[in-house]
Amino acid sequence: MSEIKTIGVLGAGQMGGGIAQVAAQAGYEVLLADMDLQHAEAGKGRIDKFMSRAVTKGKLDADAKQAALARITCVAGIEDLGPAEFAIEAATENVELKKRLFRSLDRALNKDAILATNTSSISITLLGAETHRPASVVGMHFMNPVPIMKLVELIRGLPTDDATYEATKALATKLGKTVITSKDCPGFIVNRILIPLINEACFALQEGLGTAEDIDTGAKLGLNHPMGPLELADLIGLDTCLAIADVLLRELGDDKYRAANVLRMHVAAGWLGRKTGRGFYDYKKR
Ligand code: NAD
Repeated sequence: MSEIKTIGVLGAGQMGGGIAQVAAQAGYEVLLADMDLQHAEAGKGRIDKFMSRAVTKGKLDADAKQAALARITCVAGIEDLGPAEFAIEAATENVELKKRLFRSLDRALNKDAILATNTSSISITLLGAETHRPASVVGMHFMNPVPIMKLVELIRGLPTDDATYEATKALATKLGKTVITSKDCPGFIVNRILIPLINEACFALQEGLGTAEDIDTGAKLGLNHPMGPLELADLIGLDTCLAIADVLLRELGDDKYRAANVLRMHVAAGWLGRKTGRGFYDYKKR
C-alpha cells in the first residue's frame, strides 16, 4: 500500500465538497470529480464560498484558504482520478449508481489504492463485490457539514482487510476526526438511530401533532438536541433521508422503517431541503 499523497473525491455536492476541503486543509492534493468538469467546478465554487465565510468570521486565515483551494484540482471524470492513492466516493445515495461508480473507480485507480465510500446506508460488502479489490474497499462516513462535524464512522465490509481499515483510520485522524467503527449493517450506527428519529418527526408533522417549529423546538428544548429533526432533515437533504429510510425498510424488513408520506411527497415535489431552497422550511424567506 503506497503512502497517501493524493485523494480522489467523486461527487462534488455538499459532502464531497466538504471532504475535499478538509483533505486539502490537511495538506493532501485533491482531485475532485463529478458528472463532468462543470459540476466539479461548481462544487469547488461552493467550497470557496464556505471557506470565505470562515475567513470573514476570523476562523480561517486568508492565506491558508488560498493554499487549500490551490490543492484542489477539478477533473472531468472518474478516469482522471488515476493518480490518487485513496478515493472517497460521495455521489448521490443510489445503490445502482454507486455499484456502477465502484466498477469505474476499480478500473481507474492503481490496484493498491483504497476505495472508500461515504454512503449513509448502502452495504460496503455489496459495493466491494463490484470490484477486483474487495479487501481494499471500506466505508468512511463523514457527517454534515464535514469541516465542522468531528465524527467519522468507519465500516468494514466482510472482506475489508486490516491494512485498509488501519490506513483509513489514520487518514480520518489526520483530517482531525474522531473515529467510531460500525458493522456493515444498513444505516450503520448513526443513521440507524437518526433516520427513525427524523421519520417519526415526519409522522408527527403529517398527523398534525404540531407545526414543524413546535416539533423542532420540542427536540431542541425538550431533548437538548442542537437542531430539531425536521431542520436537520432539511440540512441532510430530504432525498438522502428518504433513500436511507427505504434501504432500512428493504434490508431490515421491519415496517417500523416505513417512510412517512409527507417525506416522500416533499421529495416528489423536489423540495429537498436547503440545497433546493425549500424543504420543511422555506429558505428563500429566511
Ligand atoms: P448531494 O446531492 O449534495 O451531492 C451528490 C453529488 O453526486 C452531486 O454533485 C451530483 O452531481 C453527484 N453525482 C450524481 N451522479 C453522479 C455520477 N454519475 N458521477 C459523479 N457524480 C455524480 O448529496 P450529498 O448530501 O453530498 O450526499 C452524497 C453522499 O453522501 C450520499 O451517499 C449520502 O448518503 C452521503 N452522506 C450524506 C450526508 C448528508 O447529511 N447529506 C451525510 C453523510 C453521508
